Amino acid sequence: MNDFPATRETALRRLSEFVQTAAADYARTRNFVTPGHAGVSRLSAALRHRLVSEEEVLAAVLAEYRFTAVEKFVQEVVWRTYWKGWLEQHPGVWEDYVRQSTTLEPVPPSGGVMDRFTEELEATGYLHNHARMWWAAWWCHQHRLPWAAGARFFYDRLIDADAASNTLGWRWVAGLQTAGKAYLARRDNLAKYWTDHGPLDGLDEAVQARIPAETADRSRVPLPEYPEAPPHGEGRVVLLGHAEDLSIETTALGKVRPVGVGLIGPVGAHDREAKRAWQTAAMTDTAARWSQHYGIPTDRLDRWEAVGDWLAQVGCGKVVLMAPFTGPEADGWRPVRAALPAAGIEVIECRRAWDTRLFPAARAGFFPFWQKTRADFLSPDR
Ligand SMILES: Cc1cc2nc3c(=O)[nH]c(=O)nc-3n(C[C@H](O)[C@H](O)[C@H](O)COP(=O)(O)OP(=O)(O)OC[C@H]3O[C@@H](n4cnc5c(N)ncnc54)[C@H](O)[C@@H]3O)c2cc1C
Repeated sequence: MNDFPATRETALRRLSEFVQTAAADYARTRNFVTPGHAGVSRLSAALRHRLVSEEEVLAAVLAEYRFTAVEKFVQEVVWRTYWKGWLEQHPGVWEDYVRQSTTLEPVPPSGGVMDRFTEELEATGYLHNHARMWWAAWWCHQHRLPWAAGARFFYDRLIDADAASNTLGWRWVAGLQTAGKAYLARRDNLAKYWTDHGPLDGLDEAVQARIPAETADRSRVPLPEYPEAPPHGEGRVVLLGHAEDLSIETTALGKVRPVGVGLIGPVGAHDREAKRAWQTAAMTDTAARWSQHYGIPTDRLDRWEAVGDWLAQVGCGKVVLMAPFTGPEADGWRPVRAALPAAGIEVIECRRAWDTRLFPAARAGFFPFWQKTRADFLSPDR
């Protein structure tokens, strides 16, 4: 089934099915692009928005298997955290993408082998990882189109669109992320891993990598420190939720007793149909869960700029939220946050312990990160 869970309940069900049926075979099957994508979890949209968390996914898998039997899957899940932690520490790379992508009009070439992936992306909002790599390589190196325009084309359509995984995945294919190392789409690789491929028309075998000049400021900035939850005795507070974390009730914020709950989104003005539909479903589910958990109705906000008025309406001088990560949510939040103290509103930003623990290790490449963090996932009996 080619479906992508958009509620917490269906995401947990998918996780449990994946653990029972596919996780053990993942290292062997994960690179094959097959109809329905049964060899991979299809949990990326749920994970990106934390309908389920990385921690929950790994706990479920490691409860069933020895670490060494599922190490590849654990590693892939942790790639998401690694990219996020890296981008948090290199915001100049995100700013460079924003600068470049807003001035470009991304139109993919048509009439060749990648049409099927373009159509699948438009229709479902999802592509298998290998298809994303081929498509991005074809865009950057064969057609010599700007990587940021391709990244923008993906971002507006993917149901799992994520500032870190998308921007840094594209930069890696383009040859910017790992200095001098680009990814090329080769005919024999497509023929081997794309099980129902048709004629591989329009793929140039002789293509050479074309690595663009680096325009981003890659300086590293220190990670801000956030508590996991508001300090004890937080008093009257409101909770503000957003697309980065749709299961805050399962975190330390689940214990807060707020006088108001708000949920922002979906907010992306350029989001295409499949992406918008997935986010609408996920947020409808989230608002219902939070209303039940906190015992008060969840107010829906359609943009960050509406936060000030909403807080004034609720009449509470303290707001608690998960700090948004580098990307569009943080860009939307920053000016709103800057204006709140003048309106007499105190802000408490929190972060999951998972991110606080793992982000500092994401300073250089993935493998040094993995060397530093791998032991975290090994329990003594595995
Ligand atoms: C050019 C390009 C753009 C991408 N853009 C995005 C994006 O916007 N959002 C996004 O979530 N992923 C992105 N990815 C990563 C990856 O393709 C998807 O996360 C993956 O296809 C998810 O499918 P799945 O859940 O079935 O994966 P599975 O194989 O089941 O993997 C399990 C989980 O591991 C994580 N994961 C797997 N592969 C990667 C990876 N390469 N990078 C980071 N995390 C990974 C995801 O959370 C995924 O849900 C991109 C990759 C490339 C090459």
